[in-house]
Amino acid sequence: MAERILKIVNVLFEKCIMPPMWKQKILTVMLAISVLGGMSLYFYEEMAPTVSRGQYVWRFLSDPSSDGILRAGSRCGTSPFLFPTDGLVGFIWDDSFRPGHRHQGIDIFAGTDVGVTPVMVAYPGYLSREAGWKSSLIVRVPQDPLQPGRQIWVYYTHMADAAGNSFISSQFPPGTSDQFVEAGTLLGYQGNYSGDPGNPVGVHLHISIVKDDGFGHYTNELDIRNTYDPSPYFGLALNAHQNTEEIPTCQP
Ligand SMILES: [Zn+2]
Repeated sequence: MAERILKIVNVLFEKCIMPPMWKQKILTVMLAISVLGGMSLYFYEEMAPTVSRGQYVWRFLSDPSSDGILRAGSRCGTSPFLFPTDGLVGFIWDDSFRPGHRHQGIDIFAGTDVGVTPVMVAYPGYLSREAGWKSSLIVRVPQDPLQPGRQIWVYYTHMADAAGNSFISSQFPPGTSDQFVEAGTLLGYQGNYSGDPGNPVGVHLHISIVKDDGFGHYTNELDIRNTYDPSPYFGLALNAHQNTEEIPTCQP
């Protein structure tokens, strides 16, 4: 890029008599313009949809209303998954919260305090909770309803308060392994635990659909490449590249 700009400057000014310092200044300004342009383009393409949805979430959390709220246990059209909790889908799959970040799931905001809004199983499967998990659960689904023969995992998190006091149902203590759960089973309540005590998130449920590693274990959920676009599972527009600014609502 820099070479190209240098070439252009040379072509533009090769016949001009100009002190070398001027040329250097012009080059610096052109470089700055191209860097700023690149950054703006990146921001526009990657982060603008999230900022737009973020403003909506901020308004909702400051003054919660029922506008845009989806209900726990409802199903959009013929989608295989139930909606797992009451709330507004504030952020979706592949939203970007900071440069380089790609959101691996969806965030559902109840607009209530912590420990109030129930979270339920979206699709039946086998539930596990690792020994150290304060706010998270994962459900193994042996047959992906959209692609039978493929095993997937459904991950639920933020079900604890800011200090990490768990809101997960006593039915699923730490160490629970491969326990069958029906769709609609109560898992716990929305919370704001971020994994870092004292640095809470807004009260919400984060849910994501995680790939299997091919050996019967889930992959690292923190990397979006290990997750699936949840749109067809919920029958909602949950892909930030297709839904660039709207709050998803059910339009069967
Ligand atoms: Zn999230």
